[in-house]
Amino acid sequence: QPRPGQVQMAEIIRDAIIDSRTVVIEAGTGVGKTFGYLAPILLAGRKAIVSTGTKHLQDQIFSRDLPQIKALMGSNARTALLKGRANYLCLHRLDRALAEGRLQSPDWISALHGIKSWATRTQEGDIARCATVTEDHGIWPLVTSTNENCLGKECPKFDDCFVVKAREAAHEADLVVINHHLFCADIAIKQNGFAQLLPEADVVVLDEAHQLPEIAALFFGSSLSSGQMIDLVRDTAREQQAEAVDMSDLTLIAHALEVALEPCVAALKTARTDRIAWSEITDDPGIKTAFDALDDRIKALTDGLDIAAPRGKGLASCHERAVQMRQALSSFRNSTDSDTEVRWLERREKSFTLNTTPMDAGKTFSDVVESQPRAWVFTSATLAAGKDFSHFTRRLNLNLALCQQTPSPFDYPHQALMYLPAHLPDPKTDPEYTLKILRLVFPVLKASGGRAFLLFTSHRELKKAAEILEGKLPFPLFVQGTQAKATLLEQFRQSGNGVLLGTQSFWEGVDVRGEALSVVMIDRIPFASPDDPVRRARETQIKEAGYSPFSVMAMPEAIITFKQGVGRLIRDVTDRGVLVLCDPRLQNTGYGRQILDALPPMRRVRAIADIEAFFKSTERPDSAQLD
Ligand code: SF4
Repeated sequence: QPRPGQVQMAEIIRDAIIDSRTVVIEAGTGVGKTFGYLAPILLAGRKAIVSTGTKHLQDQIFSRDLPQIKALMGSNARTALLKGRANYLCLHRLDRALAEGRLQSPDWISALHGIKSWATRTQEGDIARCATVTEDHGIWPLVTSTNENCLGKECPKFDDCFVVKAREAAHEADLVVINHHLFCADIAIKQNGFAQLLPEADVVVLDEAHQLPEIAALFFGSSLSSGQMIDLVRDTAREQQAEAVDMSDLTLIAHALEVALEPCVAALKTARTDRIAWSEITDDPGIKTAFDALDDRIKALTDGLDIAAPRGKGLASCHERAVQMRQALSSFRNSTDSDTEVRWLERREKSFTLNTTPMDAGKTFSDVVESQPRAWVFTSATLAAGKDFSHFTRRLNLNLALCQQTPSPFDYPHQALMYLPAHLPDPKTDPEYTLKILRLVFPVLKASGGRAFLLFTSHRELKKAAEILEGKLPFPLFVQGTQAKATLLEQFRQSGNGVLLGTQSFWEGVDVRGEALSVVMIDRIPFASPDDPVRRARETQIKEAGYSPFSVMAMPEAIITFKQGVGRLIRDVTDRGVLVLCDPRLQNTGYGRQILDALPPMRRVRAIADIEAFFKSTERPDSAQLD
């Protein structure tokens, strides 16, 4: 059954296709935006690209939504799914791994043989469809390719290559479904096969568009990770075995590079935070010594590979990668900071990534948008702060876009309550903040019989809450990080009375319809970390331009994240639920009230009795409204 917001959206897109213009559409939760954009595209019969935020959503659009709407409309449009190359089995690397026969564990050996057998049956080589080895298994990087290690036309398996086949199928299709990572990576380096598709498309739809500014900034910059170096070490050893068995010194030189990474990881432990501007640590003597030694090892490997390269295509490819790696490390360490980009480091337990992020990814983006007349559709359930889209359009430089909101079909005043508890602790100063808000939430959980998401803004608070609630709830407790997200969600749905504790990844893209989810609690306003080096650089830029970073950046971002979190509660016209907002700043500051006003129009209550009445009745409870 088409919904008014969906019809409105389809009409806007129909007109955008006719006029080849750019539109930005915030489609309220429940509008059914996927059909809202697929219908006018199929009706127009024009060549289109649809990009979405994750591979999971990409599969959902391709395997569930597209067949449904095509059947409804009697369309025979040819469709294709295109992912990044890391999602396809690489037959050449599979052969190499089988020939090498040196795997670290029986589990990997059995996985490799499972993949070998699957390789003879699969048509697409999409690793998500390999039933015997899960997509997150550590063996996949060994048997999938990267831009660096793919041999391209030189490859003996080129004619059977799954990556090549997927790109050809996409080329021939009328509608191709891709994801934003592929989209942005391709704009940046034009090597993922999508670059050939774009010139031919009449319509490009970017769904979940709120994620684009961050993804674009990531891909339009450059990065060099310790993982890439380890991959080069392993590939060099493998290719040396295959192409230059007499040059065993090369493998020793390669391993010396892997060994040199350890002091770097150790030295970085002294850095103040996990994400830090390079300028803050570049003069640290320990870090400098470790990275000088790393540079020496990359140089030694480059020299060794220079001699070995003529022995085979694999070694030649490794040589090219080593040369590029050395250049990347040197340019990262030796360039000076500028207004146009920020150099920063991300540290993890045993690895690190050196990143250079452009300050104005929007310019690159808008150059592509304006390169050729066609319809561009940017859509998501959360793009505007209130009615203001400028935060989004500014970041992508979409100054001339037509911005529209299409209303949600949900009757929020009747379907939901917003509970604003009184006597909340101060999130900035009270060390027992999490314990105290959980005490306030407990009566809500009692009234709802569990069926709740408790969403936190940090892993630290999530962990604290898990410790506090362990063994204390009369409901099954599910904690993010204890199991795979999909498994956790499935168990939560099945339980019927579960309480799930989640952070970032549960704030968006999670769809639990019906009674299994009837309460969403948000612990505090989701302001981004002030320590983040890229944000700090952006803040400086905004200040220098004479604006307030809080109003121009922090507030719109917090509102959009907040709307995502709140959007978990009501997923259907028959859903009912209570939103519990614990941060007292929402009630006692001007910006807090601005955030509340940007949320769907729910009735606001302060008494637990209202919530008990709400859950007892299927009718709207008779309680006083706060506003
Ligand atoms: S062309 Fe590249 S991706 Fe394809 S099989 Fe060869 S190395 Fe692998």
